[in-house]
Amino acid sequence: MKQIAVLTSGGDAPGMNAAIRAIVRRAVSEGLRVLGVQNGYAGLMANTMIPLGSREVSGILQRGGTMLGSARSEEFKFVEGRQRALANLAERGVDALVVIGGNGSQTGSLALAEMGFPVVGVASTIDNDLLGTDVTIGTDSAINVAVEAIDRLKVTAESHGRGFVVETMGRDSGYVALMAGIAGGAELVSIPEQELSPEQIVADLGAAFERGKRHALVVVAEGVRCRATDIASYCEQHHSQVGFSLRVTILGHVQRGSVPTAADRLLGSRLGSGAIDALLAGRSGVLVGLTNDAVSLTDIHEVGGKKKQVDAGLLSLARTMAL
Ligand code: ATP
Repeated sequence: MKQIAVLTSGGDAPGMNAAIRAIVRRAVSEGLRVLGVQNGYAGLMANTMIPLGSREVSGILQRGGTMLGSARSEEFKFVEGRQRALANLAERGVDALVVIGGNGSQTGSLALAEMGFPVVGVASTIDNDLLGTDVTIGTDSAINVAVEAIDRLKVTAESHGRGFVVETMGRDSGYVALMAGIAGGAELVSIPEQELSPEQIVADLGAAFERGKRHALVVVAEGVRCRATDIASYCEQHHSQVGFSLRVTILGHVQRGSVPTAADRLLGSRLGSGAIDALLAGRSGVLVGLTNDAVSLTDIHEVGGKKKQVDAGLLSLARTMAL
């Protein structure tokens, strides 16, 4: 193995740059050359790759997003698209590929590995819904943004005795909403894995005020059927019985673009370096993750298309802490 390529795919996540930097510097330490593929699998098919040395990845550790750009590509899901990508990798003299991304991206990396090309994946998505790792790159930063927003909203909520609904990112997964709810001290959390009805949310927030609370705040993951605005509308429609109204804050993409926390920089550095170790050991079709605080390799067959479940104990903790 003389030259490897690296790409970032799917949603950008704080800490992806730390992983790119670690991949490049660990590879350089072994005498390998590195190409950075721009814009994910789309760039692999368009043959847009740039040489990356140690200096090209200077100054990115503390930056959110990804210096390589990311993209979603339907074309790569078809064998013709992947054949084009393989032809470009062959033309550039690339011997192996590292894919930094979430569930969909790792399904793509497995598809490429199954066509005979050496590929390893690095677990990165703010959602933390990937099996094969305790935590994914970007999750800690996303939780911290949500907690900071909750802290600020609680100051206003307490001053005015108001209710708030905060909607976090998380298409299919409620992990970030749940963890932010616990760390921020929310009264309720509604997530796709355990969605609450607007009737229940409004009744429980009302009960929180009756227990003497000065604020009532619910965190909602964007993947629920009854979104933040629906809950606030329900509350408004029943205002005379409920006695309070709910203000809505949708965090949306604000949650993605943060400065990576130290935890995400460390995770990116460890997993990126681990990806090169895996390739040097001749591994392919594996996801590099963190299990029990050690870098781990998991067959992507066991990971792709599956979803990590949220811990029922954490849901129960969120409820108890709101008493
Ligand atoms: P995030 O969790 O942050 O959204 P993700 O990696 O799950 O990240 P996706 O949009 O699901 O993001 O996938 C990223 C890209 O991976 C897709 O646009 C596509 O190019 C590729 N991909 C997804 N599924 C497959 C598949 N079954 N076969 C080949 N490629 C795939």
